[in-house]
Amino acid sequence: MSLTGEEIDRAEAALAHNYHPLPVVLTEGKGAWVTDVEGRRYLDLLAGYSALNFGHGDDELLAVAHAQLDRLTLTSRAFHHDKMAAFATELAELCGMEMVLPMNTGAEAVETAIKTARKWGYRVKGVPAGRAKIVVAGGNFHGRTVTIVGFSDDPEATADHGPFTPGFVTVPFGDAAALRSAIDADTVAVLIEPIQGEGGVVLPPPGYLTEVRAICDETNVLFMADEIQSGLGRTGRTFACDHEDVVPDLYVLGKALGGGILPVSAVVSRRDVLGVFRPGEHGSTFGGNPLACAVATAVVRKLKTGEPQRRAAELGSVFASALAELPSSAVEAVRVRGLWAGIDVRGRTGRDVCEGLLRRGVLAKDAHGSTIRLAPPLVVSEEDLRWGVAQLAAELS
Ligand code: PLP
Repeated sequence: MSLTGEEIDRAEAALAHNYHPLPVVLTEGKGAWVTDVEGRRYLDLLAGYSALNFGHGDDELLAVAHAQLDRLTLTSRAFHHDKMAAFATELAELCGMEMVLPMNTGAEAVETAIKTARKWGYRVKGVPAGRAKIVVAGGNFHGRTVTIVGFSDDPEATADHGPFTPGFVTVPFGDAAALRSAIDADTVAVLIEPIQGEGGVVLPPPGYLTEVRAICDETNVLFMADEIQSGLGRTGRTFACDHEDVVPDLYVLGKALGGGILPVSAVVSRRDVLGVFRPGEHGSTFGGNPLACAVATAVVRKLKTGEPQRRAAELGSVFASALAELPSSAVEAVRVRGLWAGIDVRGRTGRDVCEGLLRRGVLAKDAHGSTIRLAPPLVVSEEDLRWGVAQLAAELS
């Protein structure tokens, strides 16, 4: 048996089968490229679901991480540490906000946003105890905790995980009128992905985010944007909301915030919103640890230059025109925003196409059914990007 086969068999024998990875065993990565245990190289067009926006092994981020590893990695929030102030102030500034609540994974940050909205609803808006309601969108993906999957409409995500947390109302994504009619006096927040990632890179109709902003303003409801996958440069702007010049009340961030090195997530908002927390009401042993803060601050500084966003926008045009050339007989629809694309293929499953791409030296991942989602690292070269799309065109021909 090949080394790849052996490694997979050994791992699968001892792992819960909650994933179905493509049959490749990776061992090294640099920039947009990874190498498997047999020395084969692949162009990574998934980039850790956008956690690797800055590519594998970015020199600056690695240097910061290495230096911090030797100094101080964990304090818990029982004490202050000297990497927190820069992280919190610079991340808040990048977001045009005032306060940060650091966590680790995306799901934890979403849970934090939900708790924030409920607390704000009871303590600031004056919603009667136990009645807070949050409006979410159909087709959402916000993570895997029981509360979060409880408002997912994906049967695979919810099966046999109930009973679920009450207090969520679902409306169709992109339908502002439905959103407006779902809001009542007990509604504390609207939680949406400005572009639905796991749903297949689903773009809302133009003007939707602006309408969501206006509805939330009129009804005194918090607009919470889950930018965990769409934010931090991916779409050619710092946030996907920026495409409509919309500022939500609260950003939920994760993935690329940790530079592809470690999990770092955060809720970022104004003082009148995040100020609702008092000591002891929420927390995390690892949230805001010195290593996380050091790496995330370096990520924020990269984004402050605007360079990753510019690259994503420029290469995004190349990407969009290359994808527009995919054989129309094999492609149902293509949705692109910056360096992020969802491609619905005809007559084949996304999985099947991704297996074909793997054989051609390209890593990609199916979303639902017949959708392939591509999210190249923002550091990918134009030549590599064109080559990757050419492999997809060849696979679909
Ligand atoms: N929110 C969005 C929009 C996501 O895309 C994801 C992950 O794909 C999450 C939340 C959950 O993040 P994590 O897997 O780090 O918990």
